[in-house]
Amino acid sequence: MLELTILGSAGSHPGVGRACSGYLVRSGGTAVLLDAGNGSTANLQRSVAYRDLDAVVISHRHVDHCIDLIGAYYALRFDPSLARRIPLYAAAEVHELLTGLLSRDTALAFDEVFEHLEVSAGDHLEIDALTLRFAASVHTAPTVSTRIEIGGRSLVYSGDSAGGPELVELARGTDLLLCEATWAGDPADYPPGMHLTGTGAGEIAREAGVGRLVLTHVAGGTDRAQVLAEARAAFTGPTELAEDLHTYLLV
Ligand SMILES: [Zn+2]
Ligand SMILES: [Zn+2]
Repeated sequence: MLELTILGSAGSHPGVGRACSGYLVRSGGTAVLLDAGNGSTANLQRSVAYRDLDAVVISHRHVDHCIDLIGAYYALRFDPSLARRIPLYAAAEVHELLTGLLSRDTALAFDEVFEHLEVSAGDHLEIDALTLRFAASVHTAPTVSTRIEIGGRSLVYSGDSAGGPELVELARGTDLLLCEATWAGDPADYPPGMHLTGTGAGEIAREAGVGRLVLTHVAGGTDRAQVLAEARAAFTGPTELAEDLHTYLLV
């Protein structure tokens, strides 16, 4: 059984009542936070206390995916019941960015709260009974897409991505693809190598043969209905827009 709760579905900056990227994955007693964008941990704490996270995985260094770890650090540092460091799987530059925002002493204390473990494309790790695999994402900063599996159930989170064969391969046959769809319309109207449109996300879901497509990271100025319509035109399986606090159960 895998449970995915959307903590933040906004792209690049928070929207009205909508936080930036954050996704809580739970299975049995294990809780993993995928990304911690602006505002997402306000929603996290409705379900899980910071201290009860088994791990945090950050896809890349952009602040709409990691900045809430600064607040999490302060909460954990002054939590007397915290008995262990929380594993933080992320590229070195995520750790550099976050600690660079803190004073020297505070940056050292950050490492007493979080145990930074570097991850990059091709890595494979286990968190309790969950298996995680990472693939390179096409984006403007080094970014990983993540696949989480347990007991024959799986989900894949694209991270920020302009698509590409690695994402298709990682997502192949997954039960749920949580895919970014920042834009709508003609990809030629946007800078290359950054993000997907609704059509692009739908095409990846179709090529990978996924069970369900959930569209996230839609930019504030993008027409959400158009993103959904584009994805549905490209992929005939169940497709919807991610909404903050919605939970998907994969059984
Ligand atoms: Zn982003
Ligand atoms: Zn990004």
